[in-house]
Amino acid sequence: MNPISIPNWLKTLAEQFQAKGRQFYIVGGAIRDGLLEREINEWDAATDAKPAEIATILRAAGCRQIGTIGAKFGTITATFENETLEVTTFRTDQYQADSRAPAVQFGSSLLDDLERRDFTVNAIAFNPLNNALHDPFHGQTDLKAKIIRAVNEPKKRFEEDPLRMLRAIRLAVQLDFTIEKETLVAIEKEKERMGILSAERIAQEFNKILLSEKPSQGLELIVESGLISYVLPELIPSIDLEFDPGEHKDIYHHILQVLDNTPPRLELRWCALLHDIAKPLTRKKIGGEYHFLGHEVVGARLAKTILRRLKYSNEFVDYVSKLVYLHQRIPNDQGNWTDGAVRRFVRDAGEALQDLFTFAEADSTGKNERKLAKYRAGRDELKNRIEVLEKEAEIAKIKSPLSGEELMKLFHRPAGPWIKPIKEKLLALVLDGELSEKDKTKAEEIARTIVKN
Ligand code: ATP
Ligand code: MG
Repeated sequence: MNPISIPNWLKTLAEQFQAKGRQFYIVGGAIRDGLLEREINEWDAATDAKPAEIATILRAAGCRQIGTIGAKFGTITATFENETLEVTTFRTDQYQADSRAPAVQFGSSLLDDLERRDFTVNAIAFNPLNNALHDPFHGQTDLKAKIIRAVNEPKKRFEEDPLRMLRAIRLAVQLDFTIEKETLVAIEKEKERMGILSAERIAQEFNKILLSEKPSQGLELIVESGLISYVLPELIPSIDLEFDPGEHKDIYHHILQVLDNTPPRLELRWCALLHDIAKPLTRKKIGGEYHFLGHEVVGARLAKTILRRLKYSNEFVDYVSKLVYLHQRIPNDQGNWTDGAVRRFVRDAGEALQDLFTFAEADSTGKNERKLAKYRAGRDELKNRIEVLEKEAEIAKIKSPLSGEELMKLFHRPAGPWIKPIKEKLLALVLDGELSEKDKTKAEEIARTIVKN
């Protein structure tokens, strides 16, 4: 495997732990991603030092920002040269059957600490002082084979902490790995344990799935394994539900396609997931065709309920709900829209205008290329019309640099028909680009010449 390049500050820190007679290993995602030559976004380290001593060593090493919120779980966080590091005391976690949180027990060996970790590829430790890798569960073999495999017995590990099931899927999609058979079967068997998880923990992993390169893969694993009942049960009715025969398999498959089509921003990915969530609730067959009248209204409401349940911020909830509410407003053909209709749409969309266009593009997923090209042309035309109307609105606001009152003051004359021609001349010069709307001095000069002649 590839050598891992460790920044100098981290090597120096390892020496300081060693000087105190402590062990210090880099563990977790950094080693996994480093071996895969992926970008490393944060560092995790494990040591036999207890939290208080970790903090002392970090302070002596010159680290000013030290976080101790996790100290009772053994974790001290620190920032070095804009990179974050979490140092955790070796742990051996003990789980109770009915509890979601482990009773933290500090351990004394690296092996115990690696054994409590979720997957073999996450259970590799690296000693930056002698470049030795410690890999008791053969994580490197699984990295090479691109496999997510639970450390020890998967069923037991998922029962202990059901979030690991969602983490397995998250890692598989992020890294484009497959989940090892026994591990996958255990997810199906243990799915009901998901019920004990907090919404925040679920959302944290689910966000990472949504932001991955191919979120549809993650969603499919979530649906196939049955975890969907605990993550987003509202999606279930769209599976196998006929929608527009010949164009799409069902609503669910359309949603999968839209998900992958949207740029990786959480607002847009959530909008993709939820935009047609109310289609099953509103479907009616009229004249041999399915209609989904008002699905965007019901969907926007449902989106709020779902996102609130998952504890997103109010701002996020409102924005995604707004996108869902307006996702149909960009028409496939706006040939019969009046200028007034275009203006009303721009006002309603507000700051979401750009995202609505981006989404409308992602939402066009039918098989008929000619139709799709026509829709795209329609959207481009609408964009142009908006631009033109906005420019016109800007132009309508342009005024003569000097008002009637200013002219009266300047020439010490009362109001009268002499004002209008001067203002018109000044305005014409601004429209021709020869005079700035703000240049009062030059405007006064010009006004004087006009009056003199
Ligand atoms: P990322 O790159 O997204 O941060 P990561 O693997 O570092 O991925 P973290 O949540 O930062 O994920 O966790 C750090 C390490 O802690 C993991 O690599 C794993 O060894 C261990 N870990 C995290 N969550 C669990 C869990 N629920 N059960 C067991 N071990 C876990
Ligand atoms: Mg991490």
